[in-house]
Amino acid sequence: MKHRCNNYYNRFSGNTAIAPQPAKTEVALNDSPVAVLNLHGRGPIVLICEHASRFIPDSFGALGLSPQDQLRHIAWDIGALELASDLSGMLDAPLVHATYSRLLLDLNRPIGATDSIVETSEGTVIPGNVGMDPSQRELRQQRIYAPFHAELDALVDRRIASGLPTCVVSIHSFTPRYHGFDRPWHVGVISRNDRSLADALLAALRAEPGLCIGDNLPYGPQDGVYHSLERHGEARGLRGAMIEVRNDLLDDADSRKRWAQTLRRTLESALREIATTR
Ligand SMILES: [Zn+2]
Repeated sequence: MKHRCNNYYNRFSGNTAIAPQPAKTEVALNDSPVAVLNLHGRGPIVLICEHASRFIPDSFGALGLSPQDQLRHIAWDIGALELASDLSGMLDAPLVHATYSRLLLDLNRPIGATDSIVETSEGTVIPGNVGMDPSQRELRQQRIYAPFHAELDALVDRRIASGLPTCVVSIHSFTPRYHGFDRPWHVGVISRNDRSLADALLAALRAEPGLCIGDNLPYGPQDGVYHSLERHGEARGLRGAMIEVRNDLLDDADSRKRWAQTLRRTLESALREIATTR
């Protein structure tokens, strides 16, 4: 039902009235940092969307950011949750996604990484993250990172125990212009040691008309962006890949639906290719 979907997206993208507030020292993280769609999906892919939400609880005073900055890609991957949700339905894939902004803590970075909780993002200072008390840092790790990845661990382990074939795919979006550079790619596939799924997906995407495709672009594992795939895929010997779609191509529901259909088609083609060449 469409209106329910809209409410669902609004809940996690934080589309509520935004008022600038001074940063406070008392903060609360009372909501679950993780939501799962299609938990019992039996398709061969587990979807992850770590940057699904721009929601920052009121008690954080918007981390001192202006309403405009709270809407920018620095806070979340614009359009990624809707894309991943469509894909979840099409592939009968469980989707595990974040419910808090990555500015509170980036779930796709290991604990302790310098960019786990950023003080600056693409030239914008995040005042609420500057000079944080270690106890506040630990609170975010315990209330955001730990439950999110525990949920994913449990889901993937249950599937393995029940004999379900499982690949891990994370869905992201990237900004068209970054540090003054216009990025030409429409979509990027990021992979590391086991490139089998990524190579098959890249081949399928290259067979689609008119796409400019990045192989480990606009990011690669060398940029430290492979944490979830490493933890939930590589560490278990599972195939996986990250997919990045340029966010200006996800502007409206029709565009997102077309991208979901493209990714469904090319992921299914990639899985068939792997099955026949294994
Ligand atoms: Zn992302």
